[in-house]
Amino acid sequence: MDKDPFTERVTPESIRATWRHLVATHDEVLGTPNYAIFLRTQFNSEASFAGPLAALRARERADPMFFAQHPYGWAFNSESYDFSVECAYQVRILDAAIGMWKALDQTPQAHLCGIVARQTLSSGLLRATPSVRHESGLTFVICPIGWNEFLAWIFAAFTADCGLARADEPGSTTDIEPSRGDEWRKMRIGPIGTARSIARSHWLHLLAAMIASEKCESEVLIPQAIGAILKEVPAFFDGIADLSLCHESVISRDMSYLAAEMALSHEVGHVLRGDHLPNTRADETLADLLAHEAFRSSWGWRSFCLRESGLSDVGGWLFGAQAFMWGMNAWGLIGAELVDAAPSLRARWRRALADDMTKRGAAAARRLDEYLRRSPQQPTPDDVRVMDLVYSKFALHIAELIRFIRAFDTSALEAAADIAALQRVT
Ligand SMILES: [Zn+2]
Repeated sequence: MDKDPFTERVTPESIRATWRHLVATHDEVLGTPNYAIFLRTQFNSEASFAGPLAALRARERADPMFFAQHPYGWAFNSESYDFSVECAYQVRILDAAIGMWKALDQTPQAHLCGIVARQTLSSGLLRATPSVRHESGLTFVICPIGWNEFLAWIFAAFTADCGLARADEPGSTTDIEPSRGDEWRKMRIGPIGTARSIARSHWLHLLAAMIASEKCESEVLIPQAIGAILKEVPAFFDGIADLSLCHESVISRDMSYLAAEMALSHEVGHVLRGDHLPNTRADETLADLLAHEAFRSSWGWRSFCLRESGLSDVGGWLFGAQAFMWGMNAWGLIGAELVDAAPSLRARWRRALADDMTKRGAAAARRLDEYLRRSPQQPTPDDVRVMDLVYSKFALHIAELIRFIRAFDTSALEAAADIAALQRVT
């Protein structure tokens, strides 16, 4: 492949101008004039870019040939991003791209040039999963803030329910994190339901976020939607812990990172294939198989994530792939319950959407089985035991969450949805 003259000319300015054009029709909050500029100046210091930019330089040192074949000079400039988290996504996206490039004998891949990470502010059910958009020769892998927040809250609720909590909670006397080894031990022996009040406050946060309209700024909207739910169902005040604090454990953070990474790998799978929306079932299958391959062979940060888990290397990537599926299944199940619960939500979201999400989770599980059948590397019996254990607890946790949703009056959810519909950023 000759170097593509277009992607050679990409600059921070051309990326931001192209994104500004695309986002106007894609995210109503970021599409609001001057709003993104306001956010950028509010939340992004040069220091917040230091970690991800250093990680990018480490990738360049490890695989200089990839960077010689695929022009990514702009990726090393903080001006190329609206948010520093996009620079962190860029690292993960390039990890996946490098993994796929290695699987293709390190030959240059035109589709792997000009992939740009972007974050949108959608938190609702319709647009809060990652996607790919092509615009003016660039490829944007879009990660809505709602997707990563969903993963953080759902896994934090789960591990709190297993008795894991971070040392920096109110009342804690130490800021030393518990070791992963301690957490894995607790996860194995502790009963589910240990910190149900924390789990319930996290569930409420999740529901409010998923009901949110994409026309709203989540920071403003979600507390108001939670307030509406609680006003309609005051019984839920009982035993609810601090609503604003996400009690992440070390393991919940690992699970949400792994699931987010797998989701980005899947999107890079679509990019490598040259897929355009809407994707067919065959597109999804092949994107997933590429994502598994990239996920297994890319940079070794996962071993740090899973350190002290007792999982083998194969068990490690498999656990990441499972975390992605558990998150996606939870998303689909909660979405289906919400659509069933309130008529106005059903009208807004269309029944087919929720059905489709649940089916997507099941299809992804079949694709992982298929990948494993072909793979020369297999998990150990210990890996299988650990994953079965975590999964059985996660399934119990989600069953409780479904009961929690069913206990709400329709009016509570619709009151929250009304707030979502009315609130707009000005
Ligand atoms: Zn897909």
